[in-house]
Amino acid sequence: MIITKNVERQFSDAMRTIARRGDLKAYVEQTPAIYQILQRAAAKYVTGEGRQDGLEAGRKLADKGYAISLEYIGENTTDIQDCEHATLELTLLIHALAECGIPARVSFDLSHIGLSIDDELAYKNLTVMAALARQADVELFVSMEESTKTDAILSIYSRASVAYANIGITLQSHLNRTAKDLNDLGRIPRRIRIVKGAYQEPEQQAIPRSSALNERYIQLIEQAVRKGHRLSIATHDESIINEVMKRGWIHNPGVEFELLYGIRPDLCSQLKKAGYPVRIYLTYGREWYLYLCHRIAEYPPNVFQAILDMMDAGTADPVHNYE
Ligand code: FAD
Repeated sequence: MIITKNVERQFSDAMRTIARRGDLKAYVEQTPAIYQILQRAAAKYVTGEGRQDGLEAGRKLADKGYAISLEYIGENTTDIQDCEHATLELTLLIHALAECGIPARVSFDLSHIGLSIDDELAYKNLTVMAALARQADVELFVSMEESTKTDAILSIYSRASVAYANIGITLQSHLNRTAKDLNDLGRIPRRIRIVKGAYQEPEQQAIPRSSALNERYIQLIEQAVRKGHRLSIATHDESIINEVMKRGWIHNPGVEFELLYGIRPDLCSQLKKAGYPVRIYLTYGREWYLYLCHRIAEYPPNVFQAILDMMDAGTADPVHNYE
């Protein structure tokens, strides 16, 4: 059977819709048998439920010569105590990284630490973490969420980054507004991560996966490099990676490739062996439902591997796949 691009796109859209269904997420989380089965599929992309799982996998990859990002997964948190708990967990992660000497970056969604309740709460929690991270010499990185939140995220980031230069920001190349947003960040050199964008957006605001999107991604890299920003090129797309190497940008100070844990370890190994700086983005926590849906939506053949993993016939610890 030939799966056409059109069917693949419909499947991806359906997965992204499933990802947003709070009732399905709640059902999975409250039904231990289903939670455990799906968790086996998530284990390909998520190191485990606890901080220690993330730290252990991070340590092993750091020992192999990779730079590390760590995220305590969660977003759209609407309970104030859950936001404070997430902030506390992230501060404990910062402490733990400093203590065990892993030079990692900590990534998170602002809607995990307050944005879904109040911008000021997110700002307060971000600056508390940034102060601590600065003392511990840890870099923080704000993820980018749905376009309905882009203004708020950029505004909170811009305010906080005046006092805290140790915070970076993620920009989504699929949004039509991003070249302007990048320009508006001004001339101060910053740490910027460019991604394609994981969320389903209205067609007036974003373009889908296409050669036009790849061209736009390259233009954004060029714009950022010209401004002297330190840059994480966060993609698994070999055509973009090859173009970045061809243009020599990867040799600029502070420019690196950043790929998600569990995705294309072969490519990560190849890039690292060739001497390029490669960072692996690891996650941990119980809120992996949305994350798993996004990873399957991005690459529909992953659904076959997910089914094998659920039946326990999948691959072993993903760290072993990194050379
Ligand atoms: P695609 O065109 O989606 O994929 C290109 C090729 O890469 C595919 O053909 C396939 O070969 C391979 N590939 C891609 N995804 C997978 C997969 N899941 N499994 C197996 N192979 C795959 N998105 C946000 O919206 N906000 C964020 O803050 C954010 N942070 C990110 C941080 C990092 C470090 C990375 C790497 C991604 C982040 N993303 C974020 C996700 C991003 O937006 C894309 O959805 C994701 O990276 C897939 O897009 P791609 O650039 O790899 O290109």
